[in-house]
Amino acid sequence: MLAAAAAHAALDLPAVGDQTKTAVIYLDHNATSPLLPEARVAWLDAAEKFPGNPSSPHRLGARAEQALDDARARLAAVLDCAAHDIVWTSGATESCNAALHHAATAAVARDAADSTAPVWLSAIEHPAVLAAARHFFRERVQLIPVTRHGVVDLDWLATQLAAGRLRPALVAVMAANNETGVLQPWREAQALCAARGVAFFCDATQWCGRLPAHGLGAADFIAGSAHKFGGPRGVGFLKCPPGAAPRPLLHGGKQQEGRRAGTENLPGILATVAALEWCERQIIAGESARRHAVRDRFERELCAALPSVAINGLGPDAGVERLWNTVNVVMPESDCRVRWVVKLDKAGFAVSTGSACASGSEEPSHVLTAMGLAPSEAARVLRFSAGWLTPETAWDELCGALGRIHGELV
Ligand code: PLP
Repeated sequence: MLAAAAAHAALDLPAVGDQTKTAVIYLDHNATSPLLPEARVAWLDAAEKFPGNPSSPHRLGARAEQALDDARARLAAVLDCAAHDIVWTSGATESCNAALHHAATAAVARDAADSTAPVWLSAIEHPAVLAAARHFFRERVQLIPVTRHGVVDLDWLATQLAAGRLRPALVAVMAANNETGVLQPWREAQALCAARGVAFFCDATQWCGRLPAHGLGAADFIAGSAHKFGGPRGVGFLKCPPGAAPRPLLHGGKQQEGRRAGTENLPGILATVAALEWCERQIIAGESARRHAVRDRFERELCAALPSVAINGLGPDAGVERLWNTVNVVMPESDCRVRWVVKLDKAGFAVSTGSACASGSEEPSHVLTAMGLAPSEAARVLRFSAGWLTPETAWDELCGALGRIHGELV
């Protein structure tokens, strides 16, 4: 485990300008988490063992189909739902789009009056949800506010549901935020929606593989993406309501009972399930509590070394829970976030300014804006996100590097 951890945490990259190797401490797991050894083994094994197409009529096809069914049952056991409710996709972006597409088109088909139904989304959803909702629902998107610590406002949701003016076609509250790591009250939101018969969608992309997935199956729709928990890129899933026939986003084949056209990525799917089951075993073994303590110690040491930093979601009055792997910090005023990332990269640390999708743009993050951060604060935010195999020393080394770089900047 230790050798694997070292290899996994310190990725060998060719140094710029010459061909020697340099080790990089990788702290950008919320963007993508390197393939776990267990997932790699499962992928290679499946690629050899199952050469057939699951839709083919011969024995190799039937064998592949059986493996696909087994994988669905294993994922369902983790999520706590029926195997039939799972649709394999290419990742969470597709899953989110499929859920919103279904909600928009099913409402229209059910009742012409429902074609005016809005969709309610937390203001901090990933762009895969926000942009898809704007595409399918146009001006009928309503944002659920969040507190200044980045937690969705349940009172708003309860009050609006009780007012019962225009029932939403769907309510979406993510499980854990990708930028801040702040956990959302998805169980409570789900219960509020269920009591009113309103469909509930939970984007659990950053939750799955880090915290127990059990119980997520109660949501009508769940989105997940393999590469966030050490599975391969390009594989995801959408959990749908029991017995529902989700309206397909992709057309052109009868795969997955007509719910998603296209040949299933069987090696990728088996590697995904192997990765998720491995992560769940870490959680059951109590490893997340240990990671939590390491992350908290880093935050204390960072605040002691650089007293002017502010950690989003942390504070005496915050009382919010965050993913054990994520730290989202407003850095001191000495430099902007992009320069910090460049300096840290040169020092051997791969970190991020926030979400991978937002980091190319100069717009302040919509998540931080919804939490009430000023653009000047959002412009100084860095996100550090670890994985299961990140060694404790990585956090210590990062703390030292941040202090050194700050010293050079002032
Ligand atoms: N939802 C959340 C919360 C995410 O963090 C991401 C990716 O960062 C996505 C959806 C989209 O995932 P993918 O890029 O795997 O499609």
